[in-house]
Amino acid sequence: MAVDPLIELRDVNKHFGELHVLQDINLTVGRGEVVVVIGPSGSGKSTLCRAVNRLEAIESGAILIDGRPLPEEGKGLAQLRAEVGMVFQSFNLFAHKTVLANVSLAQIKVRKRKKEEADRRSRELLERVGLAAHADKFPAQLSGGQQQRVAIARALAMDPKALLFDEPTSALDPEMINEVLEVMQQLARDGMTMVVVTHEMGFARSAANRVVFMADGRVVEDRTPEDFFTAPESDRAKDFLSKIL
Ligand code: ADP
Ligand code: MG
Repeated sequence: MAVDPLIELRDVNKHFGELHVLQDINLTVGRGEVVVVIGPSGSGKSTLCRAVNRLEAIESGAILIDGRPLPEEGKGLAQLRAEVGMVFQSFNLFAHKTVLANVSLAQIKVRKRKKEEADRRSRELLERVGLAAHADKFPAQLSGGQQQRVAIARALAMDPKALLFDEPTSALDPEMINEVLEVMQQLARDGMTMVVVTHEMGFARSAANRVVFMADGRVVEDRTPEDFFTAPESDRAKDFLSKIL
């Protein structure tokens, strides 16, 4: 399996009150790997992503990034959040800042880049996601698919070691889904380490090295897409696939 682990979860547990939302999660994501996480609503996929970025604290077990345990707080935590970028279903762009300023902001505040340098990098990244012509517009002037691509450029601007995507296309109109998936496919080909929660099974089949199927807070299957889609082992996965495929 993963020769060079970049993200490791070891026996991770978390509750929300009575609900055991993450149950003995063991998961390794190797450098350059793309892991797609799927599973029914409420199975703990978002909580898993948020735990890796320490937006949620865990109760037991360990999460390591590049061999180091997650920092609890302070400077180390800000550094971690810069190293492991996150792209959400809702793009969370600043409405009264231009596209360019949205991509530059954290570079200046967190990476301490000069504005000119940050803007130069932002323009490169906007080019990469196909939005060079939209740098001076405001988010509301863009489509949902374009806004999500800005959010991806903003995450890339921190030079992350890995990116986590939590249902990045779920809020988009169908005709905009592919333009976002294509950007993600390209990132995968360029060797970005990615954890992607998605219902887009075409993306899982074509871009994922592994599919992790979660149900009721557990990792139920962790296999190649070929194996998972052609011969799911668990009843939970068979049932899930029969509903979505
Ligand atoms: P998924 O992303 O797979 O749909 P989530 O990780 O969002 O699942 O949620 C898993 C379970 O935890 C759900 O039952 C959800 O209602 C619950 N949950 C999520 N966040 C919280 C929270 N902050 N407080 C209490 N319960 C929560
Ligand atoms: Mg979710």
